[in-house]
Amino acid sequence: MTELFGTNGVRGVVNEDMDSKLALDLAKAMGTWIGAEGAVAVGTDTRISNEMLKEAVSSGLMAVGCDVVDLGEVPTPAIQYYVKKKEYVRLGVAITASHNPPEFNGIKCIGEDGTELTEEMEEEIEDIYFKESFKMVDWSDVGKKRSDDPLDIYKEAIKDKVDIDTIKEAELKVILDCANGAGCYLSPYLLEELGCEVVTLNAQPDGTFPGHNSEPTKENLKDLIELTKKTDADIGIAHDGDADRTIFIDEKGGYIHGDRTLTLVAKKLVEENEGGIVVTPVSSSSSVKDVVEAAGGELIYTAVGSPIVARRMMEEGAIFGGEENGGLIFADHQFCRDAAMTAAQIVEMVAKKGRLSDLMAGLPTYVLEKIGVPCPDELKEELLKELKKEYKDEDHDDADGLKLYYKEGWVLMRPSGTEPKYRLYCEAVDEKVAQRMVAEHQKKLRELIDKADKPS
Ligand code: MG
Repeated sequence: MTELFGTNGVRGVVNEDMDSKLALDLAKAMGTWIGAEGAVAVGTDTRISNEMLKEAVSSGLMAVGCDVVDLGEVPTPAIQYYVKKKEYVRLGVAITASHNPPEFNGIKCIGEDGTELTEEMEEEIEDIYFKESFKMVDWSDVGKKRSDDPLDIYKEAIKDKVDIDTIKEAELKVILDCANGAGCYLSPYLLEELGCEVVTLNAQPDGTFPGHNSEPTKENLKDLIELTKKTDADIGIAHDGDADRTIFIDEKGGYIHGDRTLTLVAKKLVEENEGGIVVTPVSSSSSVKDVVEAAGGELIYTAVGSPIVARRMMEEGAIFGGEENGGLIFADHQFCRDAAMTAAQIVEMVAKKGRLSDLMAGLPTYVLEKIGVPCPDELKEELLKELKKEYKDEDHDDADGLKLYYKEGWVLMRPSGTEPKYRLYCEAVDEKVAQRMVAEHQKKLRELIDKADKPS
């Protein structure tokens, strides 16, 4: 288990648990880990504390002999694409806290293949960090720093993957909400170059997030929903703070959950390829499995976390993958979540096939209920063992926590990686059944937590 790195890098409140000392030493550890050969590309989202952390990270890297390429404020997937494409770049660092409130910031490491590092690699970096076994170099070998712009090659790569003529002919009107985040630097221009009429919301970079918090929830996207409906737009598009995830609004103003988009794209790609592998975490809706299998494809479930999905996709030769939060991964583009690529793909689908609400109406529908059940961190592991014993005769999957398959749907119980609780998910064909299943398993969880807490 990593101590500093979570599912998406090291995160914390600036100058409380995420400060320049941590950034400096972590960067020395990263640089020591890759060795002094080659360069490290560093980019940020639009947060106020970005420059402070970027200077510290750059200083740490140069002190152990790495050269630094400063990519400036850019979407995280643009950093990932740059690292993958530029051979002399051995590592990427994204300074971002994605959808967290403005007081947070974070540091995420990207491997030379453009995908987030594995947990084992992060453990190795942490080991160097905690032992302070940094390989400081002589004065004459200190690294150099220069700047580069990753946006053009990234944007062109996305444009290569869609049929621009068809999109142009459809004359689509798109309302785009960039959440004052890193998406401001790319998506308005990309969509315009694809021939859409683009109306932007919150498209000025501002790390105080004056428009709304940078998580694209229905609540946060009220203005986008309203504007999409009122102005007869064809699509509403929203990115999170670092523009790796994207959420869509249909032409009627309907908020489309991320797992619906995941299902729609999975269906399209498996149909086009006449089969293929799709990878998603166990927490995703069964609708993904339904459409993939109906189209002759195969679905593989993994533990929760986009880097886990991305790496499994590479191993299995998957064509597509992603998460229910709007993080979609296109294997023929790059193995990471990519908001701008997802936007381009959906825009192309609407241009070719018609209204987004109609496309969505053709997909299987389930109801998902999600709750948290308090559980002290020290009991989490023991509880999982007990759960596995309790339900050993049920049809199950233990890729992450314990997922149980029933006739009416499924239940997933997994320890939270960030909070002292278990997450309980239930998906069923209707709300009543889902609620009943939640109640039953919540009761069982509480009983087992009590038992583990007071062993007889
Ligand atoms: Mg993000």
